[in-house]
Amino acid sequence: MSFSTLGLSDPILTALSDLGYSEPTDIQKKAIPAILSGKDLIAAAQTGTGKTASFVLPILEMFNKDRKLRGKRIRALILTPTRELAVQVEASISQYAKNLELSSMAMYGGVDIDAQKQRLIWGVDIVVATPGRLLDLAHQRALHFDELEVLVLDEADRMLDMGFSDDIHKIIERLPSDRQSLLFSATISKDIRYLAARVIEDAVEIAI
Ligand code: AMP
Repeated sequence: MSFSTLGLSDPILTALSDLGYSEPTDIQKKAIPAILSGKDLIAAAQTGTGKTASFVLPILEMFNKDRKLRGKRIRALILTPTRELAVQVEASISQYAKNLELSSMAMYGGVDIDAQKQRLIWGVDIVVATPGRLLDLAHQRALHFDELEVLVLDEADRMLDMGFSDDIHKIIERLPSDRQSLLFSATISKDIRYLAARVIEDAVEIAI
């Protein structure tokens, strides 16, 4: 199976072949078609399985197909437990999106919030953020979620372990209910099921 049979278009396929990716990993084979069909998703996948590309690639494909005025409103929000993961996910997005006109940005605590606010004024399509900083920015009215199309909870189990449950719920209250929600977690525990029940509607479940 190749990436082209999964429904990804040329600018993305070129970026993948430049990176030397020859075929999709198991999680990518399962998640990419499900996400492209517009479904909500609960995926059990560990780091190292190619999980990041499994949600980033279909998001890029959907946004590239349905272009909006560049970056006026956030179209996708990806929540991660740590600053390191936010930086890593955003770096992956930049690589996969290098032939597309889509912008992305990582936002995390411990750095100057004003610079992040300024960047948001210019506009960004995809925000990758840790929950605390995202809420700070939302409270300062620097973020507008009215056009949000996709929410991703990456490493959801680690976010719960780190005590972000309340923050995640506060963020979700601010998002349009008519959105696609994707949850990735190494394990699908009872707590993850409880979170998923509040965040996700009628999801497809995949495990690898
Ligand atoms: P992740 O599980 O998202 O942390 O990805 C693990 C590593 O696999 C990253 O360094 C990716 O660049 C790489 N990767 C993801 N998908 C593929 C693929 N289809 N072929 C080769 N490498 C990949």
